[in-house]
This record gives sequence, structure tokens and C-alpha cells, in this order.
Amino acid sequence: MLYLFGAIALFVIFDSVRGYLKTEDKRKYLVRLFLELTVVIGLLFLFGPLFVLSPLKIGYSTLKEGNITLYYPGGSIDMARDVMEQLKQAAEMNRQFYKANYPMPVVLAQSEFDMLRFGSYPYGGGTGSELSLNIRAGQMTTGKIAHEMSHRNLAMLTGKSMPAPNWFNEGLASYIGKMDEYKKPNELQVDLREGRYVRDILEMRGILGTPKWILKIRQGKGRVLYGQTYLMVKYLFDKYGQEKVYDFVVSLKTNDFEKAFWQSFGMSEEEFFQEFTSYIQNYRGEPS
Ligand SMILES: [Zn+2]
Repeated sequence: MLYLFGAIALFVIFDSVRGYLKTEDKRKYLVRLFLELTVVIGLLFLFGPLFVLSPLKIGYSTLKEGNITLYYPGGSIDMARDVMEQLKQAAEMNRQFYKANYPMPVVLAQSEFDMLRFGSYPYGGGTGSELSLNIRAGQMTTGKIAHEMSHRNLAMLTGKSMPAPNWFNEGLASYIGKMDEYKKPNELQVDLREGRYVRDILEMRGILGTPKWILKIRQGKGRVLYGQTYLMVKYLFDKYGQEKVYDFVVSLKTNDFEKAFWQSFGMSEEEFFQEFTSYIQNYRGEPS
């Protein structure tokens, strides 16, 4: 998210400098540019993706409990209280892994349009980023909320806006949200045999990681993506234990992902992926 804003800001600066060099009346140009930028930035804070940071939230009220600050459309206090109960349970699920409750600003969206203007995928039930959690009222299970919280917690713990490749970030979020309804190993085995298994999962990372991820979902691969990454991360937890995975996540503060992965698990991501794939291939467990 912050990278996107950075890119847009760079473009605006570049375009403004070009306009300034071209124009005759430089003073008038600067005054107009200043006014325009003030209005645009003001709108981003008041009604757009920076809403959560705006000191003024028109039409919204605030409910605060512990580390959670919930911004909800004024008048819907009953709905806000219900959501707060879910948020507290989801925060507890996260605390068991992250061992801390980072400040958790949450914005309640009432429509697809709200989701879009707050900078989230409009058709989803919610998203989590380093800025905030944006959730659609009444459309989220507690597990899904815990999933979105994990995205923000991972960013907070590591101090990085993109702390991990998508497979780990999403898989960890689903593991914490106990979202195991997606796939059991024997179901993924069928996907592997029939060619739906996502073999290029490690390539979804960095700035293009999320667009690639969304593209796969648009191609109808959502279920296998979430199921597969959930099982990949569960494999790490089962094999190495929660403490080791936690130490690994902490080491992402100072190391890049590939190096930290090697140091914690003694193999490269590619080797891990091969090991995981052959585990799925040879899985003999009960169909559950
Ligand atoms: Zn996610």
C-alpha cells in the first residue's frame, strides 16, 4: 500500500516539475498546484485510503478496547459492539503466535464502494495492511478477521511493509485464523495430480506479488492458493514447532526473507518447496 502511494507521489512530483518548467507564469502555476494538491490530499484523508489516519472522520464514531480501535459508521453501535467481540477473539488468536498486541485500527465499511475508497479490494470481506484493517460489517468470520490481523501484525513485528513473500504471509495468516476448511493434504494431492497445484507459488513476491496473487484468484485459483499456502506454513509449524517459526519471523526484522529462511530452517525456499511438494505427492493419510 505505501509503495503504491510512493509511486503515485513520484509521478505527481515529476508531472508537476514538468508543468512548472513549461509554464509562462510560474507564480500562478505554483499557487494553483498548491491548492490542487491540498484538495486532493485532503480528500484522501477525509474520504479515501488515508481515512484511518485522518484526525477528522466525518460520520464515523470510535469504539476503543485495549489495543483495538474500531471506527464505525455513527449510529451503528450495536453492530460495532458485535464486531468488537469478534475483533477481541481474533486478537487473542494472533497473540498466541505474535506474543504481543500491536495497535489495531479497524475501519468498518458498509459497501463495496466503501471498501474501494478505503483502498481495499471491493468484493472481499476485508483486508489487512500495515495501515489498518478494513472489514465489511457482517461478512467476516472471526477466523477471517484473525487472518487479516495477521497481515498487519507481521508488518508491525518486522517493521516492514512487505515482510514476506505472499505464500508465507498468506499461509501464516490462514494458519493463525485456523482457516483449514480450505484444503486437507489429500485434497491438495488431487489438485497436484490434476494440474491445479500452484507450482510457481514462490514467484509471487515483492511489489508484483499481490497483483499476481489477485490475478490467480480472478482465474479461479483462489481456493487452491489459500489451501496450498495454509498447508505449506502448517508444514513448517508441524516440522519445526511454533517457537522456531516465531524466531524465524522475528529474524525478518533484520534479515531479508531468503537469508532468514536459510538460517532458521537450514534449507532454501526452493528446497523447502520441493520437500513440501513430495510430501503432498506421497501423502497417505486418511481422507478427512
Ligand atoms: Zn490474506
